[in-house]
Amino acid sequence: MLVFFSFAIVLNGSISSAATLNQTNITSSNNGYSISTFDKSVGGNVLANSAIKKDIPRTSLSNQIFQMTKKGSVILKFGNGHGPKLLISVGIHGNEPQANIAAMKYIEYIKNKNFNGTIYIIPFDIPKDTALNTRYYNGLDPNRIANIKGTPSWKIVQFAKNNGINYLIDVHSGGGVGKNGFIYHNAVSTKNEKKWISYIISKTKCSTGVDKADNPGMIRIAAHSYKINSITLETERDTTPVMSAAEAEFKMILAATKYLGFP
Ligand SMILES: [Zn+2]
Repeated sequence: MLVFFSFAIVLNGSISSAATLNQTNITSSNNGYSISTFDKSVGGNVLANSAIKKDIPRTSLSNQIFQMTKKGSVILKFGNGHGPKLLISVGIHGNEPQANIAAMKYIEYIKNKNFNGTIYIIPFDIPKDTALNTRYYNGLDPNRIANIKGTPSWKIVQFAKNNGINYLIDVHSGGGVGKNGFIYHNAVSTKNEKKWISYIISKTKCSTGVDKADNPGMIRIAAHSYKINSITLETERDTTPVMSAAEAEFKMILAATKYLGFP
C-alpha cells in the first residue's frame, strides 16, 4: 500500500508539470531553460542585420532563436521560479544591435545555470525591425506606445504585469552615452530602483540620469506605473566599436542580475 501510494505522488507530479508546460505554450525546453514564441506579429530574419549576423556566435541555441524569430519574437525563461522575477526586454529599437549582441551573450552565459528566481529574456523585441535595422514600427517609435493596447511594447509590459515581474530592464544603445554605459532612471525612483542602480554603478562605473524624452509610452515608464522596478540600459552606439559597446552592456546586465542574486 505504501509503495503504491508513493508511486501515485510521482505520477501526479509528472502530470502537473506537463500541464504547466502546456499552459505556457513552451516550444522546447531542457534542464536550464525554456523558449517559446512571444509575439507572432513582429517576426523577421534578424540575420539580415549585418551586425547581428557578424557578431553573434552560432550555437545550437542562437541558431534556434534566429530560426524562431522569423515567425515572431521569442521569450526565454531561466531559473527555478523561487525568488525574484526579472524581465529583460531587448531591441525595442531595431537599429541598436549592440543591445541584442549583449543579451545573446548573456543568454549563453546563463543558459545551463541553476539558480533561485526567474529571468525572462526577449532578445529581439521586434525581429522585423532588427532585420531592417530601423528604429520605427509602422512609422512610430515603438518605445513611445507601450501604453497603447495591442502594440509590441504594450504586450511586453502586460506580460510583466501579468506574470508578477518585480524587476524589468529595457536594453538599448544610443549616442553620447560614454564607454561604460548609462542607466536611465525614473524621475521618481523606487527605493529598490535606487539601490539596484547604485550597485550596477559600483560594478561597472556606468553613469546615470533621467531621460528628457521620458514618456508614458516607454516600456520603462509603463512598467514603473505598475510598480515594477524598471531601468533602461544604454551603451554607446556612435563612437565605440560595436563589440566594445556590446561588452560594456553585457557587464551592466551581469551586474544588474547579480544584484538580484542571480549567477
Ligand atoms: Zn533605443
